Amino acid sequence: MNIGKQVLLTIVIIILAIFTLASLIPKKARGSEVDEFMPIVDPWEVQIVPPGGSIFSVLSNFELPGTEIGMVAYRFGNHIDVTTIQPGDTLKVILDESGEKISKMMFVQEPTVRHHFEVLGDSLAYFKEALPVKRQEKILDGTLETTLDAALLSLGLSPAAKQSINNGLEGEISFQSDARKGDKFRVFLEERIFEGKPLPGAKILYVNYEGQRAGFHELYRYEQDDEKSVLNGLYNKEGKSNNASGVGYPLASIHVSSSFGRRLDPFTGRWSTHNGVDYRARSGTPVYAVANGTVTQARYNGGYGNEIRIKHASGMITQYAHLSRMSVRAGQTVKRGQIIGRVGSTGRSTGPHLHFGLISGGRYINPNQLRMVGAEKLNDKQMAEFAKQKEKIKLRMDRKLNPPEEPVVASKS
Ligand SMILES: [Zn+2]
Repeated sequence: MNIGKQVLLTIVIIILAIFTLASLIPKKARGSEVDEFMPIVDPWEVQIVPPGGSIFSVLSNFELPGTEIGMVAYRFGNHIDVTTIQPGDTLKVILDESGEKISKMMFVQEPTVRHHFEVLGDSLAYFKEALPVKRQEKILDGTLETTLDAALLSLGLSPAAKQSINNGLEGEISFQSDARKGDKFRVFLEERIFEGKPLPGAKILYVNYEGQRAGFHELYRYEQDDEKSVLNGLYNKEGKSNNASGVGYPLASIHVSSSFGRRLDPFTGRWSTHNGVDYRARSGTPVYAVANGTVTQARYNGGYGNEIRIKHASGMITQYAHLSRMSVRAGQTVKRGQIIGRVGSTGRSTGPHLHFGLISGGRYINPNQLRMVGAEKLNDKQMAEFAKQKEKIKLRMDRKLNPPEEPVVASKS
């Protein structure tokens, strides 16, 4: 090998070494002139709300000073009802040059709704952007072969739509004894189409059921101006609903460790009746009110330890026991999804868990009857609104069933 070749080889090796080393150094440590040649990147930093997450916890994932997180979370709450935040919602931020302050923020609650924030000195400018969606009405007619659930499924309804129809009709009809093969039903719904696809959460505007034994029943949708109102749902002509959408779960994730009914008592080893459901969860896990209501009790109560009881519009009472912390007082009204305390192991308990009970007419009943908690009756003012909304739905349905004839373009002369 001559000297010239050796020099060339050395140069090649040195160049290769420089490139390899450069790729190992994080981008930020490299000179800014390198960045000028980088492809344009999305300036937003993104965090997705996890189950049980709050705006505060999501903000904490951006490496920012605590004072900045606290201030932004506080102002955020002035614009957005934080109880509507759900897992899967997305928070995007752009930091300023210091990297310690947020300059822009976007909160995306569903693909079509974007909340924009801009930090201007000490204040937060806000506007809401709703992307255009098309609305599409559908009438679905079905016949009962086996179960209502199967019949609804065969019409291609989403699980949520199916659930809401099922719950609504179950408030009217005793399916176990009165449903018959050949019973007929109709569903009138509105879908929102975004980028050619229906969005989840079709609005069920009307449902009827005509059974040989069950008779004729119909439900209309009532809704308030607030599209997130827990009162929105299907109601019968008396203004009563069996509105499951008004009911949530007491924990963000549910693992049953002991169900309702007879069981071997973990303390005495004897058979006894378990008055509720036990959900396994770590100490400190947030506990949510399952529906709107009023706290009737929040105190230490013997074997139940720290116990909260909430009375709901349906008259039913939900019970949350063995809490490590209680964050509501007796007499206070609470909303569905509000944090009322934390999981613990106070009272007669073998380890951290939530004991969840349901009381109806003074008796403990199986909490799998939970959807009945959401039963609501409209007041007089709401009934008047409901009557108007019903007429509108009837008109829309008539128009859908008997579409006006296409105008004839060619004129007869
Ligand atoms: Zn229990």
